[in-house]
Amino acid sequence: MTQTDPSPKDPNHLKGLINRYRPDLKPFEEIYRHIHSHPELSGQEEQTAKIVSSHIHSLGLDVHTKIGGHGVAGVLENGPGPKILLRADMDALPLEEKTGLSYASTKTMKDSTGVEKPVMHACGHDSHVATLLAATELLVNAREYWSGTVIFVFQPAEEDLDGAKAMLEDGLWEKVPKPDLVLAQHVMRMRAGNVNLRAGRLLTAADSFDVRIFGRGGHGSSPQAAIDPIVIGSSIVVKLQSIVSREVTPGELAVVSVGSINSGFASNIIPDYLDMQISVRTFSEEVRKRVHDSIRRIVKGECLAGGAVKDPSINLVSSTPATVNDEETVRVLKGTFGGYFGDRLIEMERPSASEDFSLLATDVGAPYVMWMFGGIEERVWDDAVRRGRVDELPVNHSPYFAPGVKTTIRTGVDAMALGALTFLKLK
Ligand SMILES: [Zn+2]
Ligand SMILES: [Zn+2]
Repeated sequence: MTQTDPSPKDPNHLKGLINRYRPDLKPFEEIYRHIHSHPELSGQEEQTAKIVSSHIHSLGLDVHTKIGGHGVAGVLENGPGPKILLRADMDALPLEEKTGLSYASTKTMKDSTGVEKPVMHACGHDSHVATLLAATELLVNAREYWSGTVIFVFQPAEEDLDGAKAMLEDGLWEKVPKPDLVLAQHVMRMRAGNVNLRAGRLLTAADSFDVRIFGRGGHGSSPQAAIDPIVIGSSIVVKLQSIVSREVTPGELAVVSVGSINSGFASNIIPDYLDMQISVRTFSEEVRKRVHDSIRRIVKGECLAGGAVKDPSINLVSSTPATVNDEETVRVLKGTFGGYFGDRLIEMERPSASEDFSLLATDVGAPYVMWMFGGIEERVWDDAVRRGRVDELPVNHSPYFAPGVKTTIRTGVDAMALGALTFLKLK
């Protein structure tokens, strides 16, 4: 495996390259608005993938499509040197947009269960696609000044946390070279123009459980003849709250949330089963295992106490690891990002979310880093700061989340290109 190029780079040289070879961003702002008004749900990113593949194909890249669903990968081989993978995600969310923007989405789409849903780019993945496309063009334009290989990955189904895994299982490494380093970025509620980079723990591991509790149905007037799964389920919800408060070391991060309960249809019928969905967030593997064990113990124990007619089913239906930024890579990036962004390079608190892109790195034993870039227009942000109302600005996944265009796109493009140039071999 080739190592990434650790030789320190002159920040002014990098700045010069980026300013000279950054393409006109107007067409990319248009691509951003277009994708924003035409969002696609996880696993159904067909049109977005077409825009991506035709664009990078026109830049002369070696392009692979339909990897793990609608995943696209482009390879820019440019002589000997490090292999850097840059990743953007493409999917949107089942949410009705309320931003009032002229290019707001009014689209609906059938989800994986066949139910028609409104669709919105409420997590800013449209900006990730547009910025990576422009960064691709920048790196192509500047190719005589660097050497190495850049792999551009446009990933499907990030919101479901299974798109990266799907690309790997579909033979990603048979199509593109294995990277020495993986970089990704995410837009978030920060002042546009700012970049947030931190070493170590960034995003939590996320696990989801589907639970079914089996009671015995009967008439609402005769509970003595039934086993009520709603009573057992209610008791489980309350008892689960004791995991974080009583079993996890204070200060260690753990979240256990029951996000859905479904049982029964009428007031006078005791139902025969109850379904529950539980979400778990942790950082440390040890805590993660402990929380999982506790959930199983509590669900089983309460079913036993309530006289459930058989053992509950407890299935771990999705799982994604924690995102922990590589310390050494962050140290090197802070050098070039600091030189480029100056006091716009900040270190904020961790966003409360999870990501699956790290699998693209850990699968080949490569280090990885994700940074955040700001999506709130400067004027809106400064005004909120003045009024002490920053907390009220819309966050990712809000129907009001509406990243500004100009500064947001430009910052994302520059950060991606700079991230790659930091580790490629300069000529
Ligand atoms: Zn999201
Ligand atoms: Zn996202």
